[in-house]
Amino acid sequence: MKVIVASFQCESNSRATLHPGKEDFEYFKGEDIFKKLAVKPIFEEAGFEIIPSVYANALPTATVTEDIFFHYERQIIETVEKNPDADGIYIYFHGSMEVDNIGSGELYTLKRIREIVPEKCVIALTLDLHANITDEIGNYADIICGYKTAPHIDQPESQRRAAKALVYALKKGIKPKTYVQRIPMLVKGDTMLTKYEPLKTLEEYSERLEEREDIFGANMFFGHCWIDAPNTSASAVVSAESEEVAEKFAKDLANKLWNTRKEYKFLIEAEEPEECVKRAEEGSEKRIFITDSGDNTTAGAEGDRLEILKLALKIKPSKKWCVAGITSGETVNSLWNAKDGEEVFVGILGEKGVVKSHGEILGWAKEIIGRSLTISFGNVDAVFTELRSAFIEKGNFDKARVDLLSYDVVVVKLGYLFEELKPYADRELFALSDGASCVELKRLGLKRIVRPMFPLEDFEWKA
Ligand SMILES: [Zn+2]
Repeated sequence: MKVIVASFQCESNSRATLHPGKEDFEYFKGEDIFKKLAVKPIFEEAGFEIIPSVYANALPTATVTEDIFFHYERQIIETVEKNPDADGIYIYFHGSMEVDNIGSGELYTLKRIREIVPEKCVIALTLDLHANITDEIGNYADIICGYKTAPHIDQPESQRRAAKALVYALKKGIKPKTYVQRIPMLVKGDTMLTKYEPLKTLEEYSERLEEREDIFGANMFFGHCWIDAPNTSASAVVSAESEEVAEKFAKDLANKLWNTRKEYKFLIEAEEPEECVKRAEEGSEKRIFITDSGDNTTAGAEGDRLEILKLALKIKPSKKWCVAGITSGETVNSLWNAKDGEEVFVGILGEKGVVKSHGEILGWAKEIIGRSLTISFGNVDAVFTELRSAFIEKGNFDKARVDLLSYDVVVVKLGYLFEELKPYADRELFALSDGASCVELKRLGLKRIVRPMFPLEDFEWKA
């Protein structure tokens, strides 16, 4: 048996404006892709010949432009063209890649592959839990296995499940069927956590379904609300030996998820930015973090919004505040030559401040990608960064030459705080701010999604 292995991932945000470039993708080809993928031992153990293609993965950004999409898609297609006799194909996608003028990048790639390989070739996918599934994907993918955890901690396991299912299907000579049941709901991603009910029980149920010999994957996908596209919604997807079983359990999972739609609430303090600023200044805890969720750089936003910084300046706090970081190449470049302690005028704020420190910013792989400049405005320090960055751990503050421990209130451009920052946070406030990653569905102005859609509309529905 011969199996092709590839991965191409980029979670898109159609409200963001920074499109990914080639440099934004972590890229490997050939045997090196297994530095990033967990499936090799499964295929080796099965005695399969493995044809590694490419691994290209960018963190969330704006939509993917056609030239960047084809740059990577073409390489997967070339591998398939060279091996049209492959018995199986395994691809690890995100599932929410939106390509300009094309739509779903995953669907496009699968269609092209199916034009090359014969019908009997079995295609298996691993997808992120936040995938926006197209109705058509079941026509091209035979096995779909999505993550079962949010926040995601089962990426390797999800790859292995799909690979094992692919091996099983090929060895038994089964061509599974995938049934997609879209669910007209789009609940705030940050409120859907699988560690808690009702999702804990639902995911356990989907795991039990996968123990059946005739089911190859039983999944709920929560969808990804930051893409304005017709395929944006939650869904239930089941791959099984027969179409009937796939359909029956996809509908069953869809109804179960739909019935819980009103149960998702924030488990932390989630408030409007003004209220967060007030609570942070008045709070008695040693150190309070505010996450500027609408401008979350780890969800594709630019990180350049000044709303919370301005609110903090307005209250003239008596506590020590730090806002890290604000994307402003203009500020860093124009003021870089000012010495520490020098008074400067910050144009984007229209305020005078004092330069506190010059530092560096880290990229996603912890490499140095640019410079930062920290400017004090009374008790509020703002860390301006040359490029978009994310302060997800203390190391980011250290590199920017900012002493995290010296602050009472810290504002970061994230949704939920990353685990690495939690030891420094005695209290966490989730600001329901505007921006490309705004969590308030009603404020997103989605025009292309299917309607009705809960919670924009409240209505009866059954799969
Ligand atoms: Zn996800």
